[in-house]
Amino acid sequence: MAEATGTAARQSLGALAVSLLQQLIREDTVNPPGNERPIQEQNKALLEAAGFECELLAAEPERANLVATLPGAADGPTLTLLSHVDTVKADPAEWSHDPWSGDLEDGWVWGRGALDMKTQVAAELAACLALGHSGWRPPRGRLRLVITADEETGGDLGARWLCEQHPEKVRSDMVLNEGGGAAIEFGGRRLYTLCVGEKGIFRVRLRTRGRAGHASLPRIGENALLKLAPLVARLGEQPPPEPTLEGLEFLSALYGEELEGAEGVTRGLERLRAEQPLLATYLAEPILGVTLTPTRASASEKVNVIPSVAEVLIDCRQPPGYGEDDALRRIRDVLGAGDYELEFSEAVPGNRSTFESELTGAIRDWVGEVDPGAGLVPMAMPAFTDSHWFREAFGSASVYGFCPQRQIGLLEAAPLIHAADERVPVADVELAARFFSELPRRVLA
Ligand SMILES: [Zn+2]
Repeated sequence: MAEATGTAARQSLGALAVSLLQQLIREDTVNPPGNERPIQEQNKALLEAAGFECELLAAEPERANLVATLPGAADGPTLTLLSHVDTVKADPAEWSHDPWSGDLEDGWVWGRGALDMKTQVAAELAACLALGHSGWRPPRGRLRLVITADEETGGDLGARWLCEQHPEKVRSDMVLNEGGGAAIEFGGRRLYTLCVGEKGIFRVRLRTRGRAGHASLPRIGENALLKLAPLVARLGEQPPPEPTLEGLEFLSALYGEELEGAEGVTRGLERLRAEQPLLATYLAEPILGVTLTPTRASASEKVNVIPSVAEVLIDCRQPPGYGEDDALRRIRDVLGAGDYELEFSEAVPGNRSTFESELTGAIRDWVGEVDPGAGLVPMAMPAFTDSHWFREAFGSASVYGFCPQRQIGLLEAAPLIHAADERVPVADVELAARFFSELPRRVLA
């Protein structure tokens, strides 16, 4: 009987999460302009009815962030479930369902934000509503839900603003955000990704100089573009893999043995490329060192003038802990000696939390119970999420990306994010809601 009741409760929790997801998708929060306030007011009303103390905090009136807290009986840690409610745009002409329909068909929910990241918003909301209405209160510490605006354009009105302007209202010891949780299969085993960090973004201008002249007389000038061209071609090479902490942790968890140093990286990467080349491309190679991608070039402003200056912008992503000197050394190694200049236009270092923590242990235990034999694998993202504002503001906090996703694996989900026909299996919405309703009972006990 107890088991049957538990199953019924889980089903209704799952159904609640799915209907909340449909409502969230039907609310157009494409950023810009975002316009997050109407849905945030609805979320606030729901959470208040479940016993949460809620506040809308907005840098601009229509760009509201929601902070909702369920206080505990005694002092203890703050567990924050962090998410963003804005999305990138969608072109309905490219979709087989309307991107704001929230259609439920054949076990999938369709719409912009289904993966990034309204499923997690809905699962966390459903979990918090169920916990609140059940009468549960944290025995210690507090459970907090932070739903931000403006993540997709950098968080200036969202997480960044909250952490800088209202740090006391969002101070956290443990944070769960987007960026991890999708499962991969390896060696006959299922492993759920736990995102522990994010690479830094360094943008570097590579510049050559020459002498201007009339384009009708190519011999009289010195064409900076012709000096740049061979350098751009060399950027087709990438710096070699390096034994980064994130890379070694990932490979070691994958193989279940401690890999060390350059030799460990070479061995682990060769095996992965042979057995699962997509995992090597998507997850391993980006976190095993520095990547260089030329993205934008410019030269003469006039069609008939030999350029005296030519430039290409290099998008350089570096593991946490790497700085400007590391980027310059890798770029010079690839380009070789020559007559060129390098200048940073952006330099934002990477960030990370330690892999092993109390929160990691609780997540690992839950995964092992729900999916016997499965484990966790740490990874880092090659891009930013709101997590880096929380790591910067609350240095000792454990901040991870995790929302469990089993039916659609990482390699199937990745191409749908920010793309047409974004959708999520109902079973994964239900699994996520279950996770977020069970985790607070464990870490705030
Ligand atoms: Zn996102």
